Amino acid sequence: LDGRDVFVTASVGIVLATDSEQRPEDLLRDADAAMYQAKERGKARYELFDEVMRVRVARRLETESGLHRAIERGEFALLYQPEIELNTGRVIGVEALVSWQHASRGLVGPSEFIPIAEETGLIVPIGSWVLEQACRQGAAWRKRVGPTAPFMMSVNLSARQLLQPGLAEFVHETLEQTGLAPHDLVLEVTESVLIEDADHATSVLEELRAVGVQVSIDDFGTGYASLTYLRRLPVDILKVDQTFVRGIADGGDDAGIVETIVQLGERLGLKVIAEGVEEEAQASWLKRLGCRYAQGYYFSVPVTADELERKLLAPGDVSGAQSQYRLDI
Ligand code: C2E
Ligand code: MG
Ligand code: MG
Repeated sequence: LDGRDVFVTASVGIVLATDSEQRPEDLLRDADAAMYQAKERGKARYELFDEVMRVRVARRLETESGLHRAIERGEFALLYQPEIELNTGRVIGVEALVSWQHASRGLVGPSEFIPIAEETGLIVPIGSWVLEQACRQGAAWRKRVGPTAPFMMSVNLSARQLLQPGLAEFVHETLEQTGLAPHDLVLEVTESVLIEDADHATSVLEELRAVGVQVSIDDFGTGYASLTYLRRLPVDILKVDQTFVRGIADGGDDAGIVETIVQLGERLGLKVIAEGVEEEAQASWLKRLGCRYAQGYYFSVPVTADELERKLLAPGDVSGAQSQYRLDI
């Protein structure tokens, strides 16, 4: 081409028509699934459609159609996981995590349906529901803990939501309707999303910050954000990804990585929260490395609003309940 050599390869998906009843469009769909498998496994190869792929395709289609009706049926629920100040055990806020109470499959976690909701665009209505619900709950809890106690409600935003025109306006309206103060809301965006389209992300984050909400970079350390980006991005909080926290007590590189992120955060004036703390040893290592905040199963798994209230807020305590507003660690 134009005096240049171009090398092309082909990935092939094969399906065997074993049943004469099969419709051509079903065969094509299955061959397509096999072709994507071939690409995933390194390209320039073929894959035969098999039972495992059939199950996966069927499950996906089922998830997709179920998601369409899940909102109207009220099948989504939010769980809340506390974020802790390590030195005091004081709760500084909670992260809202969506889950799906599926009629036949039981409780389905977000990693199973959020990616599909993203691809189909259903994340937009789901995300709106999540934001409204979380803000309403956040406003109620702010009332309970009083105006001076530390409290923030963190809500995850996916890539598609960040690209949605009018996001800042929607967030502003939701805050007004629910009565949550803008500064009590934290919007979490994963690092990879911010880097993919840094210019656009920066302008959206700036709009959100103009509304008064805080912004957090989720899963920090996994997306290779360069220091240049980090300096430019308008953010308030870094959440250290749990992969680094997992190995922190093992004497490998993870402790060094976490320590570096903590120092970097301090320098840039950001709050650093370590995610996925499961053991006492990890919590004490974090303290030693200068990390002030953490979140994880060691402190509490994500729980329903009722459970969180039982755990953290004594009945009848209306304000100034700070002595109750902590976990015993
Ligand atoms: P994330 O925002 O990084 O949330 C933390 C995940 O780690 C949660 O998983 C939480 O249950 C889990 N986790 C917390 N502590 C520990 C621990 O000590 N050990 C381990 N192994 N895991 C821990 P979950 O609930 O399955 O959520 C997965 C991801 O789905 C979230 O990651 C977030 O990116 C996304 N997600 C959750 N809720 C929403 C939502 O409402 N909207 C959007 N767009 N995404 C959401
Ligand atoms: Mg998060
Ligand atoms: Mg995370």
